[in-house]
Formats: sequence, structure tokens, C-alpha cells
Amino acid sequence: MGFFSSNKRNDSATEHTTETPLVQRFQSFLDKLNARAKEMYDELQTDAQGVADADTDPFKRSFLQFKAGMIAQFTAIIQKGSSVYQEEVAPKASAEEFMILSQLFNNWHVGVLNMMTTSFDQVIERDLEKEYAEIMKAYEHYKHQFHCRQCGGKLEIQTFYFIATYVSCSYCRTQNTFDPGTKVRRIEHLARPLAELRCRPLYQRHQEHRKQFGPKSASASYKEYAQALIREMNGILPGLETQHQHFYDRLVSEYERFDYFE
Ligand SMILES: [Zn+2]
Repeated sequence: MGFFSSNKRNDSATEHTTETPLVQRFQSFLDKLNARAKEMYDELQTDAQGVADADTDPFKRSFLQFKAGMIAQFTAIIQKGSSVYQEEVAPKASAEEFMILSQLFNNWHVGVLNMMTTSFDQVIERDLEKEYAEIMKAYEHYKHQFHCRQCGGKLEIQTFYFIATYVSCSYCRTQNTFDPGTKVRRIEHLARPLAELRCRPLYQRHQEHRKQFGPKSASASYKEYAQALIREMNGILPGLETQHQHFYDRLVSEYERFDYFE
């Protein structure tokens, strides 16, 4: 579709005012493109973080795909404006109009480019190992200052309790609530993605094997990966070994059920 669908030549009578039909039409064309870019930019300010957080892949592949898609849309808007300016507007402009049009175009171009390059600035991509270290630090701190509310005796915590737990005092038998808090509780949601991140090399080795020899032959390397994953999860969340074993069983049975029949 051409920019000048109602093609009307721009004549010399309008050349002495800055608001010639050509300038007006190009301005309103750029405004429309700008509104589209702005709409995308505003949506990203509220939605992009959610997309990043919802992506439990430690390598954020679906988030990165989403980001690449949005950047491509910004790029398409910039290309549209540029090609209309260069191919349809600039060749028809008088010298006077050209001064104005090039200024309009440059301002618009800088504005959209700026939206594109800053639209993901507010998004924080998680560093799982760092989050884990911070949680464990908070946990150790809480654990070391945990004393009996009755006699003040120091209560020794042997197991990793990431949710509120009753602990009885070894001196006076009083029941105390050991509650390391919401920050530490986040470890429940961190265990799987962190374990996946740590087992990434094994997963890649499995993928390569599978590409070469097919899913059935790669089943042993998948189990090896899944076992390593469970070991990591047990290390991160001790006390949940039974649940982790169920998770392992599910992973393996899903692999066998679906992946053999590709
Ligand atoms: Zn006590």
C-alpha cells in the first residue's frame, strides 16, 4: 500500500508555509506509527516482568523469544517509517519542505529507537545461584539467633526447616516456633529451576545423544540427567526426598510415554 493513496501533487502554492499537505500527511503518518510503538512500550512496562518471571526455564528461552519478537515489531515500525520517508516523501519534497520533513523524521526516529532500546530496561532476569546464596544467608542468620522464648536457651537446629516448625527446647521442653520467614520459604520455588540450571550439561549431553540415536536409545542418558536433578533438589530441599522421588518417577514415565512416539 502506497503512502500517497490519494495521490495529489504538491504544488508551489503551498511551498511558503511550513504546514504543507505533504508535511501534514507525513506528520500524521508518523504520529500513527508512534502511537503503535508507544502502546507496545507501555504494555511492556507492565507485562514484560511477568513474562520473565513466568518462564521457569533457567535460561529464559521463552522470555528471550518474546523479547526478540517485540524488538522485531519495533524494528518493523522503524523500517516502515524510514522507507516511506525515503521512497515516497523525500523525493516529492521541495527544498523548504525537506528541511522540515527531515527534522520530523529524525525526531520520530530517535523517539521510537529510544522506546525500543529501553523497553526491557526494567526487567530483572533472575540469578538463581545468587538468590539461593541470599536465602541461605538469611536462614543461617535466623538459625543462629534462635533461642527458647521461655528459658532463653540456645536451640540447635539440625535439619533445614524452610517452613514454620515446632521445636521443643532441650532445657525446659517449651515448644517454640521456628519460622525462618517468607524469604527463606521462596526456596521451595527455587529448588527445581536451580537444580535444572546445575544439571544443564547433563541435559545437553542427553539432547545430543537423542538427536543422534533417537529418544529410545537416549533414555539412559535422560535417566542419568533426572537422577542428577533429584540429587540436586534433595541437596537444596532436604526432607522432601519422597516428593522428589515421585517427581523423578513422573519425569521418567512422561519421557517414556511421549518421547518414544515422536
Ligand atoms: Zn527453654
